[in-house]
Amino acid sequence: MIHFVGAGPGAPDLITLRGAELLKKTDVIIYAGSLVNPALLQYAKPGCQVYNSAEMTLEEVIDVMKDAEAKDLDTVRLHTGDASLYGAIREQMDLLDGLEIEYEDVPGVSSFSGAAAALNAEYTLPDVSQSVVITRMAGRTPVPEKESIRSFAEHDCTMVIFLSTGLLEEVSRELMEGGYDADAPAAIVYKATWPEEKVVRCTVSTLAQAAKDNGITKTALILVGGFLGSEYERSKLYDPTFTTEFRKASHS
Ligand code: SAH
Repeated sequence: MIHFVGAGPGAPDLITLRGAELLKKTDVIIYAGSLVNPALLQYAKPGCQVYNSAEMTLEEVIDVMKDAEAKDLDTVRLHTGDASLYGAIREQMDLLDGLEIEYEDVPGVSSFSGAAAALNAEYTLPDVSQSVVITRMAGRTPVPEKESIRSFAEHDCTMVIFLSTGLLEEVSRELMEGGYDADAPAAIVYKATWPEEKVVRCTVSTLAQAAKDNGITKTALILVGGFLGSEYERSKLYDPTFTTEFRKASHS
């Protein structure tokens, strides 16, 4: 059996209880060494075989899984954050289907949640934005044209931009061409939940400079939108004049 496990954003105690239990019991671990905190490997039992997928191809990863399966061993495939975002799990699952090898997916805490926590931020503030766009800038990996940062920026909603720390001049330009003000609030969160976490607040036009001033070149999320500002409406959920399924309005 192969267990795809979300490792969480960095801090070793932000893996789920289910994920940690699987790590403790498994015979083989294949972890995404470019981003998964190696401290998580301390959960591994003695004698567990550990592979770093940063140095492997898809075929090599599958070969390790296939060998383990042939020996009736359990494998944990450890992906950073939650594997459903930029995790390249689908291609592994499709090959495993072809080999008739069973697998399951154990969710994790994504870095976009870790970044919000680092900022003490709420992405969906009433009257500011009720939607979060998770995207990336086109780089060596293309992004479909209809999903350009520019086109999403037209919605003026909360944006969480992955995998784009090396392209911040372009990110700024696209955001402004899409309609964000140059001085709209933005933030860079580097290594959210790791001991070396850095939180930098800036504006849409100063993203590249802010990253440079703080020596941030990778492993960061770019957050953009009014949720980083100070204006918002109170929620209806806790409004004394608003009746919900669980609570009657006390006055109107
Ligand atoms: N599946 C992962 C994302 C993998 S893509 C998740 O759910 O978080 C890798 C990108 O995620 C990095 O380039 C960076 O943009 C972001 N990232 C991953 N971990 C991060 C962290 N702890 N802090 C900030 N950004 C992080």
